[in-house]
Amino acid sequence: MEDIDFDRVEYASNRKLPNDDGEMTGRIKIFSYDNVNFKYTMKCPYCGEEQEGSKEMPNRPYYIKCKECETSSLIRKLKGSGSKVKRPDQDDDDDTDKVDKI
Ligand SMILES: [Zn+2]
Repeated sequence: MEDIDFDRVEYASNRKLPNDDGEMTGRIKIFSYDNVNFKYTMKCPYCGEEQEGSKEMPNRPYYIKCKECETSSLIRKLKGSGSKVKRPDQDDDDDTDKVDKI
């Protein structure tokens, strides 16, 4: 993934993704400069496929679909732009945001 310009970024997150059994077998790193176009790298919690891509997501809820097994993961809540943006090398897993499958 390209380097993030933290002077411009509106959203960045790095968190684990659960599979059907609730095991945190996947991970996603995602960021956006405008809360519309998101770039991400993901390890699918279902099939383990590592992939990266970009997706235009102007409205909630936000979903990322695995290119390999086509299972979508729901990103339930993104922080508001007024929140402090974490660097993507920090782990968000302890905060209140939750990521669940559909
Ligand atoms: Zn998959």
